[in-house]
Amino acid sequence: MSVILTLLAALIATGACAYHRSSLRTWAIATVIATAVVGLMAGALWTMFILLVIELAIAVPLLMDGFRRKQISAPLLKLFAQVTPKLSETEQTALEAGTVGFEGELFSGKPDWHELLKQPKPELSVEEQAFMDGPVEQLCGMIDDWQITHELADLPPDVWAFVKKHKFFGMIIPKSYGGLGFSALAHSAVLQKLATMSATVASTVAVPNSLGPAELLLHYGSDEQKNHYLPRLAVGEEIPCFALTGPYAGSDATSITDYGIVCKQTVDGVETLGMKLTFDKRYITLAPIATVVGLAFRLYDPEHLLGEKEDLGITLALLPRSTPGLEIGRRHLPLNVPFQNGPLHGKDVFVPLSVLIGGPQMAGHGWRMLVECLSVGRAISLPSNATGGVRAAVAATGAYARMRKQFGLSVARFEGVEEALARIGGLTYATAALSRATAAAVDRGEKPAVPSAIAKYHATEWGRVIAGDAMDVHGGKAVQLGPKNYAGRAWQGVPIAITVEGANIMTRSLMIFGQGAIRCHPYVLKEMQALSIADYGDRLRTFDRALFGHVGFGISNAVRSFTLGLTGSRFGDTAGDAYTRRYYRKLNRYSAALALCADTFMGVLGGKLKFKEKLSARLGDVLSYLYIASAMLKRYEDTGRPEADRPLLAWAFHECVWRMQMALDGAIRNFPVRPVSWLLRALVFPLGRREVPPSDRLGRRVAALITAPGEARDRLTEWTYLTPTANNTIGRMNALLPDVIAAEPVERKFGKAQKAGQFKSHDYNGQLVEAMQAGVITAAEYELLKRVRERVFEFISVDDFDPSELRAAVTRADLKKKLADAA
Ligand SMILES: Cc1cc2nc3c(=O)[nH]c(=O)nc-3n(C[C@H](O)[C@H](O)[C@H](O)COP(=O)(O)OP(=O)(O)OC[C@H]3O[C@@H](n4cnc5c(N)ncnc54)[C@H](O)[C@@H]3O)c2cc1C
Repeated sequence: MSVILTLLAALIATGACAYHRSSLRTWAIATVIATAVVGLMAGALWTMFILLVIELAIAVPLLMDGFRRKQISAPLLKLFAQVTPKLSETEQTALEAGTVGFEGELFSGKPDWHELLKQPKPELSVEEQAFMDGPVEQLCGMIDDWQITHELADLPPDVWAFVKKHKFFGMIIPKSYGGLGFSALAHSAVLQKLATMSATVASTVAVPNSLGPAELLLHYGSDEQKNHYLPRLAVGEEIPCFALTGPYAGSDATSITDYGIVCKQTVDGVETLGMKLTFDKRYITLAPIATVVGLAFRLYDPEHLLGEKEDLGITLALLPRSTPGLEIGRRHLPLNVPFQNGPLHGKDVFVPLSVLIGGPQMAGHGWRMLVECLSVGRAISLPSNATGGVRAAVAATGAYARMRKQFGLSVARFEGVEEALARIGGLTYATAALSRATAAAVDRGEKPAVPSAIAKYHATEWGRVIAGDAMDVHGGKAVQLGPKNYAGRAWQGVPIAITVEGANIMTRSLMIFGQGAIRCHPYVLKEMQALSIADYGDRLRTFDRALFGHVGFGISNAVRSFTLGLTGSRFGDTAGDAYTRRYYRKLNRYSAALALCADTFMGVLGGKLKFKEKLSARLGDVLSYLYIASAMLKRYEDTGRPEADRPLLAWAFHECVWRMQMALDGAIRNFPVRPVSWLLRALVFPLGRREVPPSDRLGRRVAALITAPGEARDRLTEWTYLTPTANNTIGRMNALLPDVIAAEPVERKFGKAQKAGQFKSHDYNGQLVEAMQAGVITAAEYELLKRVRERVFEFISVDDFDPSELRAAVTRADLKKKLADAA
């Protein structure tokens, strides 16, 4: 017994120090004292003696800086240099671009929640709110999505004129250049609201405000270029596009085969230094109508007209549409969401070097320029459009499910439908919080490389789930396309969002964890960077500091993961109130588990982990759900901890935690080195997998919340165009919702009488009159049921067409004949 007590004392002191991340010195003192005191008191002198020897044998050499560096760190540095895969220039650029925000805390295994909660609450300025209430509201009132997607395959001229006049294309351009100079949050809010009306309009507005000529000019353009282009881009006098993708370069944009050769040519009698460009680009948004084309290509200087280097690398230029040889104007048709999108080509197109963004000194820096700017646009465009889409799904599906009756009941009352409604509500809560958190990060001056990838992937994936659920709940109403269908086009267009700005499979499998692990890890990047320090002494010192920090970090995460897993993360000081404290504690547990698994995976697999995409994707999922859950908790705090939102927060939180558990389980289960897998399983899931998805009861509360007006539903549908105008079916449905709900008890009375065979008439209106005359319902109730029946009919109806209306205005045969006649 005395032996066990002494061993326990040493173990508890070690565990407590590891849990709290104490220094090596503190650990040494604490364990020696604990062992000696308990050993002496318990009388286990031999055990105490052996333990003290072991403790001092570990502590003393490690605490002697010179000895430790020479005897331990130096050989390990040599080994590390041999096994560390050499990063390509592209990978190095990607790693160096961007900043690390709160996601770094999540990766630390011991997040400091106060850091999150002290971040300022993101809010629109008075001017930005006025823009939302003015031009954005007006623009939404002008949109007829059927006209855009079916009749014109384009925005109508008045919409084009309006967006240009009100500077929708200049949201990211500073006021000093004539733009709106909006915050990222305002930029996101505008896109969200437009997306609730039309994916085509939202995409058209998103592109000039995302990565493209304006953003690149702002960061790298010469004064002359900025002064020329930015004021014109702000008011839509110039329409930009940015062309990177080609037939051989999709996800791997660095493999572009488009090239430029530096040469001289006589232009207007003057010998001009320039380039001959040959390019074949496709999928380029706004290209068919663009007046200025941002072009990425690889630049070569075989005659050394610019300097020593022959292959200068990826380079960016701005070509005016009028450039001779630039073939542009044809269109692709992206899944019936017909924003302007098309190919462009050119062969030996001569342009002066002045078209290079930032001038000749920026030749070859194109990839760095793109990667440095990528995260800001990626944090806003796709996440905002997806968030607008899911907010609209809440408003539309919540109202429709309540007013659509089958088997004598609102379809919302059926448990199967309730399940879909709960997903729509819960995932929209998560998506909206994610989108807001990422925009807020941009407004704090971050370049959120990892969060932007998380936001792009999860907002669009959940957009896909919700679009599918919304379609299912609407049934045939959403299948039959036409002006009355507000859901079909959004569902059709989902794969566009999945594909652009980093196709989702690649974003999940390669980028989120791949970048997150190295960027957010407190030591890995430092260890890697140490390798490139020229002076050996400095290199060794830096590596030694990082290495031993890393070792302590790993031990601490193992202890934290195990302890928090064993106790169900029920204890410990953390942030939040009585309701949310358990949520923060749960996240502490999974943060420690992620850090432990990430370190172990990287340590055991090394560079091979890059090719184990299925493992990397799962760890990326854990990081993502940690980030999303933190975003939701921050949003809950920022909105004053509203009780009404709790079912949404609870549903989305349990979903995230359950998914985190399954992702970790999948990663550990599939780890190829079995003993490591077993050890990790014991440390991460000491009591097995105990998280469960949101319960049916919770789902019912979420479904109830989105099918009736209320403050939580209002927050979910913030920045949704709900004005009940003629062009806005969703707005009109929502305006009717209170009447639909008020009519329900009356319908029940009426239904009872109907079932009892009290009416002679076969017609609904006739039966209503009979019910009123028999005193089953009052006159006011008669009016209410009659009005609701008529209005609901408007919303459950679908379109039909004369067959000739569905024929394309121009068939390929017509076109062929026209061209042949012209020839
Ligand atoms: C409507 C639309 C608008 C666009 N607008 C523009 C624009 O304005 N400018 C522009 O330059 N480009 C634009 N793009 C191009 C877009 O960015 C690319 O489509 C995207 O990068 C993917 O390339 P890809 O379509 O060729 O797919 P591919 O690269 O062929 O990918 C096919 C599949 O393989 C997966 N994959 C590829 N590599 C990996 C990997 N290492 N690990 C795991 N999975 C991987 C992808 O995720 C994808 O699922 C647009 C595309 C579309 C469809």
